[in-house]
Amino acid sequence: MGMNAPLMTKAERIKSTLRETKKRRKTQRVFVYELKLQNLSKRKIALLERAFLEAKWLYNWLVSDTNRLGMPVYKVREVEVWVKDHYEQRELTVLGSQIKRAISNRIKDNLRALGQLKRNGHKVGALKHKSFVNSIPLEQYGKTHKLDFDRKSVRIQILGTFRVLGLHQIPEDAEIANAVLMRKPSGYYLHVTCYRSKDHCVSVDKIGDAVGVDFGISSKLTLSNGIKIDFEVRESIRLKRLQRKLSKKRMGSKNRERVRFLLNKEHEKLERRRRDAQNKILAFLKRYGKVVFQDDCVKGWSSLWGSSIHSSGIGGLKSRLRHSLETAIPVERIVTTTRECFACGLRHELSLSDRVVVCECGFRCDRDVNAALVILRKGLRLSLDQAVGLGRSELTPLESETAARILGSNPHICVSFLDEGGSLLRRKQEETTPIRIARRRP
Ligand SMILES: [Zn+2]
Repeated sequence: MGMNAPLMTKAERIKSTLRETKKRRKTQRVFVYELKLQNLSKRKIALLERAFLEAKWLYNWLVSDTNRLGMPVYKVREVEVWVKDHYEQRELTVLGSQIKRAISNRIKDNLRALGQLKRNGHKVGALKHKSFVNSIPLEQYGKTHKLDFDRKSVRIQILGTFRVLGLHQIPEDAEIANAVLMRKPSGYYLHVTCYRSKDHCVSVDKIGDAVGVDFGISSKLTLSNGIKIDFEVRESIRLKRLQRKLSKKRMGSKNRERVRFLLNKEHEKLERRRRDAQNKILAFLKRYGKVVFQDDCVKGWSSLWGSSIHSSGIGGLKSRLRHSLETAIPVERIVTTTRECFACGLRHELSLSDRVVVCECGFRCDRDVNAALVILRKGLRLSLDQAVGLGRSELTPLESETAARILGSNPHICVSFLDEGGSLLRRKQEETTPIRIARRRP
């Protein structure tokens, strides 16, 4: 600082940096990258386990008497821990001061959110004690954690240096911010938040102007250009076998604990596959200038619960479309789309078994594609006359090739095309000849 800011106090300096950061964030987009901690020695694992244990102790100690949140938590060296039937003193040896402060801030945030819910008339309880803490917030890049791209490692306050896998995902121009240390059944991870200038993010070539998406039940979606995507990741045989096994093990036994661990690991694996399927679909939809879809409740979900519920399947995909795609246009649910003819707007009585809409106006179309077209028309706010061209747009080779490339790389996604999207209006005969480009695993 020296001569440039001689009159600023420390508090003022922090305030002005915060203001600058806030301004910069407006021109940036946020990304979260997952890094896996690697080559862990027994000593390192013991250290990490100790950190999660101490985080749990501190969390429970703070929650059991929230007045403690008022004191300088970063100075706390010892906490009381409930052991069977009495309290014992435990020392906090591996939690850094910033980490302690972040844990207490997290509790404060949760209390605030609960208070908000209560004021809105919801029934809320108090914060409960946790039997596990599986995430530790690291809030100050450079202090709580620091990445070393040459050595492919991360240094975490007090815990030391760890080799990490996945650093190549982080682009050079990214500004690295806070992170979360995570414990999962498959290992330890670091979720790093990064910011990138918005200018760098719009580099993908568009393959089409606009597309309408009709979400079917469970895991199916149909695009207005005739592409159908099914992305079901079924429960594995191993999962079912482990569930059966667990129910047979005695409560509280070591064996039960072991099976529970394997079960959690399997759940994590399936969840990752679902997530990957979603990522691929989002990546594909990103290639369109506008993506119109029908949203269950455009205003409904409170942000508090929104992202965590329905993390897989259609619900999760919709919520991610809403939050991560700037080109997404939601159409409200109340608008009927399935029964309306795209070409003339006439309402039809369709039963569930009717797969094709046949209208008096001469329009004939797959039921789901028709719905996607209606959604597209409403989302773009086009009148019936203005929308005539939309129904004739053919699926271009570029589109089908991109779909095959992006979606085909996940074995759980099944893509099929209606054979000529463009001739849907003219053709008299039923036109679905699905081309399977990926077969689902048994
Ligand atoms: Zn019609």
